[in-house]
Amino acid sequence: MPELPEVEGVVRALAPVAKGRTIQEVTVSDTVIHSKQLGKEAIIKGITTEDFRTEMVGMTIMEVTRRSKYIYFHLQKEGNACLLVSHLGMTGAWFNVNTIDDIPELKFRKHIHVLFKMEDGGLLVYSDIRRFGEVRLLGCEADHPPLLKMAPEPFEADACRHFLEMAALAKYARKPIKEVIMDGHVISGCGNIYATEALFNMSIHPGRTAGQISEKGKKELFHAIVAVLQESIDAGGSSISDYRNINGEAGTMQERLRMYGRKVCAVCGATTESMKIAGRTSVYCPTCQK
Ligand SMILES: [Zn+2]
Repeated sequence: MPELPEVEGVVRALAPVAKGRTIQEVTVSDTVIHSKQLGKEAIIKGITTEDFRTEMVGMTIMEVTRRSKYIYFHLQKEGNACLLVSHLGMTGAWFNVNTIDDIPELKFRKHIHVLFKMEDGGLLVYSDIRRFGEVRLLGCEADHPPLLKMAPEPFEADACRHFLEMAALAKYARKPIKEVIMDGHVISGCGNIYATEALFNMSIHPGRTAGQISEKGKKELFHAIVAVLQESIDAGGSSISDYRNINGEAGTMQERLRMYGRKVCAVCGATTESMKIAGRTSVYCPTCQK
């Protein structure tokens, strides 16, 4: 699943090529149309496919930014501003191409669900193999309240204070620390990969409860998360499963991961173990992480 660094990679590639372009035509896949008819809300959320197409035609992309694991397309039509919010789910990918054949891999070409034909003839394509991703057209962020409840961006000055205040709440005290740091209300954009890495780097067992870790320990953990997120952004993200940036490229962070997906601890050579935390497999070293 793409986490903050992977989404940042998509946004950095997408922003310069999407900016200033206007959508001329919108195509939605039969799969999405059929699912919407059954009331399942596949990919396009909170609006009918007909309304989505009508609304999106004529929209100019003013800017593309990232907020946590979301991509924000800042749009404008006839002087009115609105926001298309995209989440990549497990396997979502955006491509900026001239023709469908330019999309690098067949599996992405086969699962195109939203296609914007731009006024300049180019295509902006959303492909999603497993269809857990979403696009949501909003007037502004406040139209979808969960977006306002997200923790500050981890690189913002306020994020550490917010993290410490939230992680100290009674409701988190008995929860495994890994579950707490993967909670987007506590810190934005930290999923399974980077939570696993940060805990390993700090020698903290993922099952330890938040209440068992001192404020100083939590502060160090916060900075370890920020460091691993930044390292991954610099490496273009991790290419786990089907993450690609808009040029079909994958990052190299997976080669630098020290615990996620590892069978053997790179530090002590012990066989790694795993446990389920908040429904996700958590890999850790039984020797190094206490
Ligand atoms: Zn170890």
